[in-house]
Amino acid sequence: LIENNARHLWHPMAHPAEMQASPPRIVNAGEGVEITDIHGKRVLDAVGGLWNVNLGYSCDPVKEAIRQQLEQLPYYSTFRGTTNSPLIELSYELAEWFKEDGLVRSFYTSGGSDSVETCLRLARQYHKLNGQPERTKFFALKKGYHGTHFGGASVNGNSNFRRNYEPLLPGVFHLPSPFTYRNPFGTIDGAEIAKGIARLFEDEIAFQGADTIAALIMEPVLGAGGVIVPHETFMPLMREICDRHGILLIADEVITAFGRTGAWTGSRLWGVKPDLMSTAKAITNGYYPFGAVMISEKVAQVFENNKSAMGSIGHGYTYSGHPVGAAAALASLKEMQRLNVAANAQVRGEELIAGLKELYERHELVGDVRGKGLMCAIELVSDREKKTGAAKDIVQKVQDVAYEAGVMVRTSGANVIISPPLIITAEDVTRIVSALDAGLSAAG
Ligand code: PMP
Repeated sequence: LIENNARHLWHPMAHPAEMQASPPRIVNAGEGVEITDIHGKRVLDAVGGLWNVNLGYSCDPVKEAIRQQLEQLPYYSTFRGTTNSPLIELSYELAEWFKEDGLVRSFYTSGGSDSVETCLRLARQYHKLNGQPERTKFFALKKGYHGTHFGGASVNGNSNFRRNYEPLLPGVFHLPSPFTYRNPFGTIDGAEIAKGIARLFEDEIAFQGADTIAALIMEPVLGAGGVIVPHETFMPLMREICDRHGILLIADEVITAFGRTGAWTGSRLWGVKPDLMSTAKAITNGYYPFGAVMISEKVAQVFENNKSAMGSIGHGYTYSGHPVGAAAALASLKEMQRLNVAANAQVRGEELIAGLKELYERHELVGDVRGKGLMCAIELVSDREKKTGAAKDIVQKVQDVAYEAGVMVRTSGANVIISPPLIITAEDVTRIVSALDAGLSAAG
């Protein structure tokens, strides 16, 4: 396995040489909040799969729903109006789930990148159908992450995900990220930073012409960019500016939609109703590749009132509305609600942040501690004063030693990201913090 892994498998975000340099982590089992590698080592999965295994690895209702649906109807397409029962049931449940966010219709995808792509396409089509075909441009945030498709890559706010694929979509503009730790505004006051970004947005709208702009896409809490939690005024300010200029607001909630931040959605956390929302990941607890785009009445109406050739969505995937994915999602929603994982994410998140802050006090290597609910990160620095990001091998060392100590964490640049299943206990939090403590001691 180790040899063939290095020889034949192309890993997302990892160089083939890395697979030869250090023994790869081949994970072959999962139970509760733990995973087991081929050497039989069990570790607490503080990555939560990839921010998505909210209910852990032993969620029987989801497994059973998948099994039953596979027996009954393993696949049928939803192309041109066919549909299936679990999907209709799911659409009803999602409408209930997202009612508070003003989103009552759903369109189905196979994952986060598809959901983002769908949002971007719907935004352009919305304006076209609305008699404003020139509204084609997109705004996004630096440090935002929106997947790997060309539309998503175009709005990504990190050059690593963009520069090998340029030229990308024209007419995409990036605002500064609402980052208090590092930003161009010379302040750490989140409210001032929010106002500064709002001024730049207004200025750019005036320069571009509002009637050329389709949408602003943003994560309510920025994830892969290093867990950046904006000031509470930031997303409402963006909403208000979008409204004033007829720009759609797309909330990319691929990470935040199902309780990860301690609220059921990231938009709700900030009291904002987006026009479109991309979701995926935890919708099936990670057990099946699936995603949903949630659509507001305002956007839906424009499509429904227009009977032109493209008045229907005119866009879809072979796996849109996959019945097994729908069954997995239905069971996941019920289980997340039954266990109230959002509430647990909030309580455990506060404990985790308190633990990470203690690590900050004891380890010079920690430059910043950030998080909301169970979406947390520590940023490692070689110089606290200058906020210089730590070298890659130092960050790797922290991850390796934490793994030896029984906890899997994820690295992203100089950040160590902690996003465990939302069902973790207070003891699990202690275990995560002490494994990181060991990692930081070894690397510091
Ligand atoms: N948007 C956000 C906010 C994400 O975090 C991700 C994945 N981490 C994506 C989109 C892309 O999702 P996927 O990897 O399922 O295509």
